[in-house]
Amino acid sequence: MTLKINETRFLTYMEKSSSIGATENNGLNRLTLTEEDKEMRDTFIQLLKEANLEVRVDDFGNIYGRREGKIKDAPVIAFGSHLDTQPCGGRFDGILGVLAGLEVMQTLNDHGIETDYPLELINFTNEEGARFNPPLLGAGGVTGIFTKDFIYGVKDSENITFEEALTAIGYKGLETNRLQDVKSYVELHIEQGPILDNENIDIGVVQGIQGLTRVNVRVEGITNHAGGARMEERKDALLAAAYMIIAANKITKEIEGLRVTVGKIDNFPNVINVIPGSVEFVIDVRHDRDEMRDKSVELIKDQMHQLAREHNVQCEVTRGWEYDMVPFDKNVIQKIGDSAKSLNYSTMGVYSGPGHDAKYMSTYAPTAMIFVKSVNGVSHNENELTENEDLIKGANVLLNTVLQLAKE
Ligand SMILES: [Zn+2]
Repeated sequence: MTLKINETRFLTYMEKSSSIGATENNGLNRLTLTEEDKEMRDTFIQLLKEANLEVRVDDFGNIYGRREGKIKDAPVIAFGSHLDTQPCGGRFDGILGVLAGLEVMQTLNDHGIETDYPLELINFTNEEGARFNPPLLGAGGVTGIFTKDFIYGVKDSENITFEEALTAIGYKGLETNRLQDVKSYVELHIEQGPILDNENIDIGVVQGIQGLTRVNVRVEGITNHAGGARMEERKDALLAAAYMIIAANKITKEIEGLRVTVGKIDNFPNVINVIPGSVEFVIDVRHDRDEMRDKSVELIKDQMHQLAREHNVQCEVTRGWEYDMVPFDKNVIQKIGDSAKSLNYSTMGVYSGPGHDAKYMSTYAPTAMIFVKSVNGVSHNENELTENEDLIKGANVLLNTVLQLAKE
C-alpha cells in the first residue's frame, strides 16, 4: 500500500502557521525578517526538533532540518519552500511546501523508515521579495545567483538592510551551514493560477517555469491645451498607448497560451486639461515556449510601430528584463507523476507562471515542482484558498516522491 501522511497532525501545522501574523480577513501578513517571521521561524525550529531533525541556519537565514540516510556523506534529497508572505498574503502559498515537508519527516519517523540518501527540509528566506526586492534572495544566495554582498546590502523601504534585519531577529547563521551537495530538489506549492481548479485535476506536475519578456514602450506625442488643439491635429500619446494596449491584448487571441499584461503606465504630464505628450508602459509577455514568446514580442513591436504611425506619434519599443523558460528535470518530473498515480490522484503537466525557490534550485540540482489547486486561481491575497483535501493530496505526493528520490 502507498504510504500516506498523518492528516490531522499536518493540518495542525497549517493551523499553527495561520495564527502567526494573521490578518483580520483570514490572511497572513508575515513579511520576511520581521517579528512575525521570527515567531514563525522559532515555531518551525521547535517543530523540526520535535521531529528529531538536525537543525541549522545559514548566513542568509535559510533554515534546514536534516534527517540522515543509510549512505553517509551522500548528497541530500532536498525539499521545502518559504514561510514568508506578502503583506496581504494567504495562508498557503509556500507555507504548504515547508509544513508538508515537516509532515513527510514525521511520517517517516512514524514508520521507522530509513532512506538511502539523507533528507533536508528547507525554509528559504525572502522568497516573496515584498520587503526586500528582488525576491528569492535565500535560494539565490545558496545557489550562487546573488553574491552575499549584494544580498546583505538590499534595503527595505525604511532603509534597513537585509543583513541588519537578519541580525535583528537573530537568524544570521553560518556560511558553513549552507546547502551543500543536492541530489534532487522537489517543491510542493499551490498553483497560484486557475488551471487545476478549472479542470478539476488533483496534481499539477510542473514541467518548468515560464519564460518572460518585459517590453518597454515609450510613446512621444505633443502636449497641448485640451480646449485649443483640434482633434485631427493632435498628437495624443495616451490615446495611441490605449490602442497599443488593446492591440497587444488582441494578439493573445491569435497565439494560444500567450499571456500579455500591462500593469503599469506613466502618463505625462498627467493633467486634466492637457493632451498627454508622453506615455511609458511595460508589457509583460509570457508563454510556455520560448520561440512563441519571441514571436509574440516581435509581433507586438510591429503593431506598436504601426499604431504610432496611424496616430501621428513617435514610439520606441525595447526588450527589457527577460528570462527563458526554466525546464525542470525529467527524472524528478517522472517520480512526481508516478507517485501521484500510485495514490490514484489525477494529474496534468503544467508550467508555472510565477518564479519560485525551485527556479534557482533548478540551476543547482535536478529539480521539479508539485502543484495543488488554488480555488479560483487566487493568490497573494487574503482570500487565497486550497481545500484541506488538496493540501493533503499534495503532501502525500511529496512524501512518495521524496521516498522514490531517496532510494539508491
Ligand atoms: Zn510562494
